Amino acid sequence: MAQARLKPVFDIDRTVDALRRALPADAARAPLHEPRFAGREWDYLKECLASSFVSSVGAFVTRFEQQMAEAAGTARAIAVVNGTAALHVCLLLAGVRTEDEVLAPALTFVATANAIRYCGALPHFVDADAVTLGVDPERLADHLRAVGERRGGETINRRTGRRIAAIVPMHTFGHPVDMEPLLALAEEWGLFVIEDATESLGSRYKGRPTGAWSRLAAFSFNGNKIITTGGGGAITTDDERLAQAAKHLTTTAKLPHPWAFVHDQVGFNYRMPNLNAALGCAQLEQLAEFLAAKRALAERYREALADLPGVSFVAEPPFARSNYWLNALLLDERHAGEREGLLQRCNEAGLACRPAWTLMHRLPMYRDCPRMDLPVAESIERRLVNLPSGVGLAPAGGG
Ligand SMILES: *Cc1c(COP(=O)(O)O)cnc(C)c1O
Repeated sequence: MAQARLKPVFDIDRTVDALRRALPADAARAPLHEPRFAGREWDYLKECLASSFVSSVGAFVTRFEQQMAEAAGTARAIAVVNGTAALHVCLLLAGVRTEDEVLAPALTFVATANAIRYCGALPHFVDADAVTLGVDPERLADHLRAVGERRGGETINRRTGRRIAAIVPMHTFGHPVDMEPLLALAEEWGLFVIEDATESLGSRYKGRPTGAWSRLAAFSFNGNKIITTGGGGAITTDDERLAQAAKHLTTTAKLPHPWAFVHDQVGFNYRMPNLNAALGCAQLEQLAEFLAAKRALAERYREALADLPGVSFVAEPPFARSNYWLNALLLDERHAGEREGLLQRCNEAGLACRPAWTLMHRLPMYRDCPRMDLPVAESIERRLVNLPSGVGLAPAGGG
């Protein structure tokens, strides 16, 4: 009996102490994700101002697009104003129309679902995989067999009568979705695949970067992402025709002419300003360094949490190399009720920890959307805590 009493149990203070020890001793407070500007950001911004090209045309935009294509492992990258706009245009180029359904994770940031609604389509929510935290291809296969019907080359949701046009796998916190079975499933059901790679710049699935696994992918360079342009995004593709269409649609669909203003469709002003691209060029030059730092920090958390009862560190899937954009721990299901207490103690101790997003099907505008059963996403929602993950928190020598 005495031994049973000595058995270690989950303890909030011990967990907070372990997280603190994973961080540099001199970090008085640890924001969730602070950007770092230690490269040529100032030089490029000054150069940009001196050129007077601060807006939507300029040399840094072109240069950023080339650097970004290289980083993403694709032939082309089109810089845009933010990641949400990138997703919106990807969906339009994929042929998503009003009254379509688009498969998307329930566990995601709201932009994934919003971009689908911007096209007049409806998100159809898919459950998460317990390891990747992204779309679970195996359970999705069962769901499609239950609700899907192939009709004239298209997939129809038998329950709603609507076409299921596409799927948007999101690489949660940088951890890649299991893409090979997902692509096979998409092929079987004729679904256009668009990776939401907004969190996973620099992550690799089976050696190839995320974003290079689908015909179109969306990236974000918001202030809290692994690299930032202030606000910004990119569309990546290997398809030259799609790249040209993406550029056209995001630049007001203006026909090239030295002075005449002729537009051939309702385009968008989704251009990334040159000023933001200048920042992005300097940031992308540091990507390898940022990745090393983030992986070193993840390793510190993994070690710190390894022997603690009641919690586990969210590690990269075995087939992937994650950018560890946002570190996370999961409380064991029986301690889920102590999550708010842990968040409170962490934040009091200067660690800006956060819960996962409220699942999409709980938000008022998405409550009535079609969905499969979501037990794994709902369990993750109850148990997950995101940990401070900025590059500046990496151990010395880690980056
Ligand atoms: C960051 C993010 C986006 C895009 O965000 P923007 O702020 O529009 O750049 C989209 N989806 C997910 C999952 C994200 O994390």
